[in-house]
Amino acid sequence: MKTEMATADENSKALTATRSVREPVRSTPARNPTFRFINRRVTDDRICVLTFDRPDSSANVFDRATLLELDDHLSFVESEQLRGVVLHSAKDSIFIAGADLHSLADARPDDLSALIELGQGVFNRLASLPVPTVAAIHGACVGGGYEVCLACDYRVASPDRQTKIGLPETQLGILPAWGGSTRLPRLVGLPRALDVILGGRTLAARHALKWGMVDDLVPRERLVEFAGRTILTEAMNLRVRPRPLKVRLTSGRLFAAAASLRVEAQLLKKTRGHYPALFKALEVVTRGVALSIERSLALEREAILELARTEECRHLIQIFFMQEHAKKQSYVVSDTARMRKSVSRAVVVGAGVMGAGIAQWLSSRGVQVILRDINPEQVAKGMASITELYEHGVKRRLFTPIEARAGLDRVFPAASEVPLRNTDLVIEAAVEKMELKKQIFRQLGELTGPDCVLATNTSALSVTEIAESTKSPERVVGIHFFNPVHRMQLVEVVVGRRTSPEVVQQALRFVQRIGRLPVVVKDSPGFLVNRVLMPYLVEAGHLFESGASVKDIDEAMLDFGMPMGPLRLIDEVGVDVANHVALELEDKFKGRMSTPNVLRNMLKAGLYGRKGERGFYLYNGKTPEPNAGLSPFQNKDRAGNPGEEELQRRMVLLMVNEASRCLEEQIVVEPADVDFAMIMGTGFAPFRGGPLRYADTAGIGGLVEEMKRLVDKGFAHFTPSALLLTMASNGGKFYPTKGGPS
Ligand code: NAD
Repeated sequence: MKTEMATADENSKALTATRSVREPVRSTPARNPTFRFINRRVTDDRICVLTFDRPDSSANVFDRATLLELDDHLSFVESEQLRGVVLHSAKDSIFIAGADLHSLADARPDDLSALIELGQGVFNRLASLPVPTVAAIHGACVGGGYEVCLACDYRVASPDRQTKIGLPETQLGILPAWGGSTRLPRLVGLPRALDVILGGRTLAARHALKWGMVDDLVPRERLVEFAGRTILTEAMNLRVRPRPLKVRLTSGRLFAAAASLRVEAQLLKKTRGHYPALFKALEVVTRGVALSIERSLALEREAILELARTEECRHLIQIFFMQEHAKKQSYVVSDTARMRKSVSRAVVVGAGVMGAGIAQWLSSRGVQVILRDINPEQVAKGMASITELYEHGVKRRLFTPIEARAGLDRVFPAASEVPLRNTDLVIEAAVEKMELKKQIFRQLGELTGPDCVLATNTSALSVTEIAESTKSPERVVGIHFFNPVHRMQLVEVVVGRRTSPEVVQQALRFVQRIGRLPVVVKDSPGFLVNRVLMPYLVEAGHLFESGASVKDIDEAMLDFGMPMGPLRLIDEVGVDVANHVALELEDKFKGRMSTPNVLRNMLKAGLYGRKGERGFYLYNGKTPEPNAGLSPFQNKDRAGNPGEEELQRRMVLLMVNEASRCLEEQIVVEPADVDFAMIMGTGFAPFRGGPLRYADTAGIGGLVEEMKRLVDKGFAHFTPSALLLTMASNGGKFYPTKGGPS
């Protein structure tokens, strides 16, 4: 800690030059007009309590103004010779959510450099104060929010669910550069620091305690008092706390170099060389741990300036903004009281894979759910799978056993008719058959009250047609969850032709309240995600039929950055399901899509994919192996041997083309909706920013030329959309730069 003094002194000189008024020694607990972001109070024991409380916001963040204000408070602490400092937050669920990403994303290189130096300088100054400092953490404490805690002598946190501690910067294509990459390995040792920083991880409070990222857990109400008492009783110990033995052991150059090589090999395998922030962070942490704090901080600064210029960083930060937008977006301008009313009682019709998943998720979010099925066995199976999901959640520390029990108690199984008058929402997740769904909705329309929203989870049937079976089609909307429900964050809110805007708004609010990310889409075959994904999967089938190997096709797309190859994905979805959806879309988009015969042939041979342990892969060993028995379904003479780039192009071009058609047909409002949905719903290579951003980056003109070349070769389904043709001819982009063509 002493080694930080020189830098901190220099920085503080520079920073204090901007300081002006000296505040009175004691402030009242009410907001002091002098302080905009951080309130100050001095206790009778002369401890300074700094409370982060950004006005008009539920979150605290660090921007330039907040950093300067913190610096002012530190000057005050020094000048008044107080006995210690406690940092804490007035917000309900956020300590400090990190740096203000807008100021980061919009910053010019010089401004960013100044911001990084300012943050490092202020945190250095905090680390070098001559009095003990304690962070009293309740709520999300991430990124810069945790870096300021790392600059304190002691960290005490509430054990509450809201308290999450970590450094997620690499997920945004940057690295912790306000001292996090330097101080975390010194606090918890190199292996754990690498795990947190390279994983972009955020840990629950108990886990953070176990890993040494915080020093104590105390109930929220006692945090500040406990922090103050720690300062008074442990002042000497806090200042000269010995670092854990493992840190000394792991900070040697040799160890760091070996760790770096080993982890780099793992990263290369996992990312296939994409995500430069991970490699840079690895380099900074492993090199920095063997250097002085000042030199390590200099590495952090250089690295973040380099990373912030990359396309990957820009795209990843955009995804973050899109997520924030999804959490808050509205469909109509203002909510009425009815729309604000939250769903407290819901009925899920159909207790199969999706119905059970939806009921579990809703119940975990405090909603009382009746799980209804015509088949009593299915109800029992559904309840068993809900119980399993909760047990799994307890093992993964997502729930305490009490929370899991309470959640399970909110699900009521029903194998016979149930009263529906007081239900706020019904979600139908019965078998995918139009006539059956119509019959269910006809009945629901009669039995529910006029304010009840009627939703279907159908993947591909027309919401408009289902709605026509009721006397109140304006109440019918699609709420399309993805499988598995507890893992997939995206939910499509599907607007039928006669769905009322209020009902769309209610569905949107409901999805947001249960912690899912909605995208609003117009009712049309396959909605958005399946419609854009299917041509890609189908093309993978055609490429296979024409002679490319399972391995080459899937490896090509893994190298592109997809989380899973397309043939493996067909196995996971189920060959029968993929074939069914492909046929549906083929029927709806005549001439544009033709379902490859291989899917039908596989079904005839009893190859259903993962669920039957046999598909494009065989699943009897630990690692799935390509199924060599499929070669009779291939026509090796047709294709030649397309290289990796050709394979990638053919599959991705179809996604870009279909995505552009969805825009043309106004299935969604803007390109960001498509990109966001494809990343969240299918895992489309996030660092590429989605299919439309990829098209912008690759150059629309070149992609269209490529499509035309394929059409000339006889692949008519590559015919570019009208929108792409126009953009290619006028140099337009999906995300036009200011002043450029669109
Ligand atoms: P599933 O076959 O697992 O379950 C359907 C359930 O509906 C069965 O338990 C069946 O007994 C029940 N059912 C049939 N008729 C009923 C009736 N009249 N009243 C009440 N229950 C009835 O199907 P699933 O995979 O859960 O799919 C359900 C819906 O969700 C379908 O519309 C499907 O397209 C959609 N969906 C499925 C997935 C997926 O990956 N499985 C993903 C998204 C959406």
